[in-house]
Amino acid sequence: MKKLSIVIPVYNEEENLPLLHQALHEGLAACRYPWEAVLVDDGSSDGSAAVLERLAQEDPQHVRVVFLRRNFGQTAAIAAGIDHAKGDVVVLMDADLQNDPADIPMLIAKLEEGYDVVSGWRKDRQDPFLTRVLPSRIANGLISRVTGVHLHDYGCTLKAYRREILQGFRLYGEMHRFIPAYAASVGARMAEVVVHHHPRRFGKSKYGLMRTLKVILDLLTVKFLLSFFHKPIYLFGGMGLVLVLPSLVLLAVLIVRRIFWGVALMTSPLFQLSLMFVILGFQSILMGLIAEMLVRTYHEAQGKPTYTVRRVLNLSEKA
Ligand code: UDP
Ligand code: MG
Repeated sequence: MKKLSIVIPVYNEEENLPLLHQALHEGLAACRYPWEAVLVDDGSSDGSAAVLERLAQEDPQHVRVVFLRRNFGQTAAIAAGIDHAKGDVVVLMDADLQNDPADIPMLIAKLEEGYDVVSGWRKDRQDPFLTRVLPSRIANGLISRVTGVHLHDYGCTLKAYRREILQGFRLYGEMHRFIPAYAASVGARMAEVVVHHHPRRFGKSKYGLMRTLKVILDLLTVKFLLSFFHKPIYLFGGMGLVLVLPSLVLLAVLIVRRIFWGVALMTSPLFQLSLMFVILGFQSILMGLIAEMLVRTYHEAQGKPTYTVRRVLNLSEKA
């Protein structure tokens, strides 16, 4: 029997919570699986905590609540929810009713077609165009190109995951939107479905344009981790070689010129440039080697394998 956990970060959403609770019951009435909602109060300063306490008391079968000690941000709240979720399938969604719980059975049905991640796509998004929809389109295009994982809507929280996929992945910064990219890197099968999106009725959005900048910086980190985490020497060493090799050739040319034509070395900017690039290049290669040692520490100290197994036959699953 499968169990469903719906993880919901909550920051100052007091008016939305009772409606959300009701919408969950209505949306999941047709769902065949037992479900729990793991609501994470991310240090709300309005009455959200009290509302959550009441809901947990009235509906102990479905409502679980984690109270964080202060506001840690949406990503951290999601991470806390995932850590406390008991389900085999984890669905993430927002608390502000912009996502619709009625879409959850559809996500689950798609998951059961054999996917590990089903991503919601707010095709008809109900947010201001200039400050939200446009920056998010640009960010989505960028993320899709850079990570090579082609989804339309990374920013949509409403997504369903098989629990195993989320194991062993730590979330930092604004990184919950990169879970699909991470999932793809461990070999998850991905699908996308169009979901409903509603305008916010109560409370305010917690974000502005600044988030786009953070997302772009996070993207840089994610790209590095996805492409070079296991082989950092390929990046650092590659840059090092690109700097060192042409500079060595240039140096040789300059020295030959000095010997046979008597062109002074010290006064030539080319000479100084090539020396600088040789030094930088060697530094970069050395950094790569240090990074290689760090990766080995990571894998060997924690006993982390360098692969992920989908399934085994006639073998017991290794923990
Ligand atoms: N949220 C949170 N901690 C924060 C900011 C937001 O838990 O510091 C929650 C918020 O309550 C909501 C979800 O994250 O459930 C998405 O936030 P919001 O609706 O403000 O984002 P938007 O939909 O405007 O992108
Ligand atoms: Mg919202």
